[in-house]
Amino acid sequence: MSEPDSVVVGGGIVGASIAFGLARTGERVVLLDEGDVAFRASRGNFALVWVQSKGLGLPPYAAWTQRSAGEWHELARILQDETGIDVAHSQPGGFTLCLSQKEVDARLAKLEQFHNLPGVAHFPYEILDHDEVKKRLPEIGSKVVGAVYSPLDGHANPLLLMRALHSYLATKGGEYRPAHAVHTIDRQTDGFRLRGTWGELRTAKLILAAGLGNVHLAPMVGLEAPVKPSRGQLIVTEKTAPFLHNPMVTIRQTNEGGVLIGDSKEEAGFENVTGTGVLSVMAQRAIDMFPRLRHLNVVRTWSALRVMSPDGFPIYDQTSSGPPAFVTSCHSGVTLAGVHAMTLGPALSKSARLPEVLAAFSPKRFHVPAHQ
Ligand SMILES: Cc1cc2nc3c(=O)[nH]c(=O)nc-3n(C[C@H](O)[C@H](O)[C@H](O)COP(=O)(O)OP(=O)(O)OC[C@H]3O[C@@H](n4cnc5c(N)ncnc54)[C@H](O)[C@@H]3O)c2cc1C
Repeated sequence: MSEPDSVVVGGGIVGASIAFGLARTGERVVLLDEGDVAFRASRGNFALVWVQSKGLGLPPYAAWTQRSAGEWHELARILQDETGIDVAHSQPGGFTLCLSQKEVDARLAKLEQFHNLPGVAHFPYEILDHDEVKKRLPEIGSKVVGAVYSPLDGHANPLLLMRALHSYLATKGGEYRPAHAVHTIDRQTDGFRLRGTWGELRTAKLILAAGLGNVHLAPMVGLEAPVKPSRGQLIVTEKTAPFLHNPMVTIRQTNEGGVLIGDSKEEAGFENVTGTGVLSVMAQRAIDMFPRLRHLNVVRTWSALRVMSPDGFPIYDQTSSGPPAFVTSCHSGVTLAGVHAMTLGPALSKSARLPEVLAAFSPKRFHVPAHQ
């Protein structure tokens, strides 16, 4: 492929989902990726497709998330049909289990605050007491005081998702190129010239989706992505017979049988390490929620770095003149894979503009004087 129609930089879930959408409309896409050695949230995450709790503080985010949860079904179906890979997507409804009345009250207050906002996209949810949770999840422990349940929540397998997205690209004539870190980008009148130790590549349209790498790449094309790492630690147990159909916000049984226990939120810069202090608190809470977990062996623990903007919401932006370049950075890339693949990618292909609904996500929202 000499000069592709578009180049996406970053082959994690976000870049690969957008590349899916571009390729599906017939564009010749090259996906340049630093590869497995990079910081990569996409291979270390908890993989919820999660709706409850999304959007407080930025109502368009709630609508964008709900739309994505809806579009996930079609994305999973296409990936299965065209690549033969089942990404283990399901939407059985999800629970946030609470271990004290204070936790229940805090959740309830946030949900009420959210649903009272004008123009907000409401989502269905229930607040459940211990007995009601026990009816639906008979294995919960006595320390569970209550839960929030939403039928829109689900989960998937993030590694299979990434593999399927890369495979889909190949079926459409696109190319995934690992070990292709982009070091410099020159903006020219009719396009962009990208360079790395691998050589150089030109394109008329550029999408930056390099996770934490966007911080350095975006300014090269006049954009910005002020994201920082937020560490999350996870535990996975040995495989066990299926007992947990629904995902919880910090516990889910994967399609392969292991139980994932997640996931801390820590300000630790780029220190991508685990520590028994945090892991033991996570494990104890999980055992309080499902006492049977105490009998399972832990087979692995790890940490990964979230791609976090200053307010926690996604960043989408585009150049206002010259050849089109876009930047996308987000914290919930698994959840948003549906809308990135089915809505954003096709929009960037057809109109080379961001959909109007994404105007609220411009990083200009961070340009406020300090006293405000
Ligand atoms: C602990 C944890 C739990 C999470 N749980 C969930 C969850 O339950 N649900 C959910 O929706 N989301 C969750 N997330 C968030 C989700 O994983 C991320 O939003 C998503 O993976 C971000 O994908 P990305 O492609 O933007 O970034 P990354 O996965 O970080 O990938 C960035 C890619 O860019 C490439 N790159 C970087 N720099 C360059 C360069 N200069 N040139 C070329 N390539 C480059 C890297 O090789 C990498 O492949 C979680 C994240 C973490 C860390």
